[in-house]
Order: sequence, then structure tokens, then C-alpha cells
Amino acid sequence: MPKCIICNKETKTEILVGEHGICLQCEKTILSLDPENNYYAEMLNKLRPFAKMVLCSFQKEQENAANSNSGDCDETK
Ligand SMILES: [Zn+2]
Repeated sequence: MPKCIICNKETKTEILVGEHGICLQCEKTILSLDPENNYYAEMLNKLRPFAKMVLCSFQKEQENAANSNSGDCDETK
């Protein structure tokens, strides 16, 4: 079962990237968060690597489709 990227609990969810997901409870929490709330920033921090991962895999797919010259999607660049 995939794990929620925010609360780290195993979750059954439709929001999935690879082996990670966001559980319904966390999704609700995110949606109901007030941007003024400190927890909102904390949540964004947790989601950042997740978003990066999504973008990275998407980028790889694009590069693979375009040509065989595969980029390594290196975060240290
Ligand atoms: Zn969760």
C-alpha cells in the first residue's frame, strides 16, 4: 500500500505518484488550510519534494520521447 507523503501512514488514495500518495485526510487538511496559518507553510515544505518528483518523472518522459539523450534530472545543478 502506498504511503502518504505528509503523514507517512499507509493510505488508499487516488492521488498517487509512484509509491507515494496523499491520503484523503491530508488532502482535506490541505484544502482547508488558511495560507495565514503556519501549518500551511510546513505543508508546502513537505509537498515540495513531492512536486519535484512529479516534475522530474514528467521531464524524463518528455526527454525519452524526444530523443535517447536522457537527462539525469539532477537536483544539484
Ligand atoms: Zn496523510
